[in-house]
Amino acid sequence: MLCLTLTGSTLEENRALVQQNRKWISLAELRLDYLQADEQKIASSFPSTVDIPVILTLRRQSDGGKCTLSEKQRLQTLYESAKGDFAFVDIEEDVKKSDLKFKDPLFENKVDFELSLRQRGVRIIRSFHDFTCVPADIYGRISKLAAKGDIPKVAVTPKSMIDVIALFRAQQELSSIKEKIIIGMGEFGVCTRILYKKCGSMLSFCSAGEGAPGQLSAQVMSELYRADKLDEKTHVFGIIGNPVYHTASPRIHNPGFEAIHYNAVYVPFLVDSVRAFFKLAEMLQIHGFSVTVPHKRNVQPYLGRITREVKQIGACNTVTRIQNMWKGTNTDYYGFLAPIADEIAQGSIRTALVIGAGGASRAVVWALHNHGVKVTIINRSVEHAKLLSDETMSSFDSLEHCNRYSGAVDLVVQTTSVGMAPNLDEDPVPSFVFSGKEIVYELVYQPKETPFFRRATQAGCHVIGGAQMLIEQGKLQFESFTGYHYPHWVHPEI
Ligand code: NAP
Repeated sequence: MLCLTLTGSTLEENRALVQQNRKWISLAELRLDYLQADEQKIASSFPSTVDIPVILTLRRQSDGGKCTLSEKQRLQTLYESAKGDFAFVDIEEDVKKSDLKFKDPLFENKVDFELSLRQRGVRIIRSFHDFTCVPADIYGRISKLAAKGDIPKVAVTPKSMIDVIALFRAQQELSSIKEKIIIGMGEFGVCTRILYKKCGSMLSFCSAGEGAPGQLSAQVMSELYRADKLDEKTHVFGIIGNPVYHTASPRIHNPGFEAIHYNAVYVPFLVDSVRAFFKLAEMLQIHGFSVTVPHKRNVQPYLGRITREVKQIGACNTVTRIQNMWKGTNTDYYGFLAPIADEIAQGSIRTALVIGAGGASRAVVWALHNHGVKVTIINRSVEHAKLLSDETMSSFDSLEHCNRYSGAVDLVVQTTSVGMAPNLDEDPVPSFVFSGKEIVYELVYQPKETPFFRRATQAGCHVIGGAQMLIEQGKLQFESFTGYHYPHWVHPEI
């Protein structure tokens, strides 16, 4: 189940949010602490105005909420609002039984809040929050809360891949507790929100717009990741990196899986330790994953087989499970070649100037070299250009001498990070004069048009943008992940 957290300041606003997100969600959580004071007073009417079960929550500040009432007033407000037709009421783990007895003009004796909820068939969620870590005794705490017959909810903050593993282990450790809610907050927790069923959680929270840290929108959870449709047979794929959430790869693979009805999901994993990730990969039986900076080298000790390209480039961007072994390949190499393969085969690309000598440049230079193209590498740090040229039997030069190559090469490849944020207005070779005859290849894909790209286009060059390489390498990964061609009718949005 996907549950939309309602953080509007009026009930009307929240009703509109339910309407807008209705096709992606099956539950909503009304956050009383986000409502204006006069709206709080009439919140009990809310569930009967929407066609979806609603959780009632009034979160205090110490648990990440906005409620500034005294604890006594807070619980009294929760009690009054809970008179509405809510399906669930969230009560924090540490609220004492004695604090849940209320005077009510309708009754002679004090009302036992918990008992009255149970008698009306309202389920109680007992919640626990930790914004600093995943507590060591998390399984014990969940078991204790479940023992009372309520639904335990833990929202904790993984700070590493090891913590993420602890949350996924809850599935095995607590398999006897069928109804529980487990949430990994913060940036490491994103994979636990998408794969919430693999943590044994009965639901995952999502937002209408900008939500809690790590929370994704209902649309992204449902349409991109199909989080609520995943089952035991779903093959898990993903991308590992640090940072990782900027990557466009989920928008390539997930629509591809859906288009060919392949039961799989592709998830971003923020990874601080490759070693820990390989443990998780075994635990979740991950079938394959993409690798981005800074792990393209780090994964190699864990691979049983690597291709010639991985060995040459020294970087692996694709890992697949082959029988009981991990195999490393590099699809950047072939993805780069795809848009220019015909020109190389026809002999119209024989010479190339490659700007930059970093990780991407290594794949580019090796690909060109292996296909008989004569390469010159120019780079800001000339010693980096020299090292790569020694390995690949290429020439090298410094960036300042770029103009020596104007009109003298068939292909110019821009592989530096200049032109992407924060250097959006910069050009790595502002004095380079395009003849208009060379093919120009800009690897930066965000933004689509860099100053270098624009200058080459204005000079009349045939210009290839980085998105093309990204999509081509992604399609090759898709093939090695699934064994199927990428569906030609899907056009990923990068
Ligand atoms: P990297 O390993 O960090 O290398 C960065 C390169 O840029 C180095 O050659 C560096 O020169 C140079 N550089 C950085 N700042 C510079 C500046 N201010 N002036 C001149 N040169 C500068 O990065 P990478 O992994 O190779 O990635 C580079 C770019 O390629 C990124 O924009 C990335 O998004 C893009 N890329 C695209 C694709 C695709 O599929 N389209 C695939 C991979 C990468 P020094 O040696 O002097 O530091």
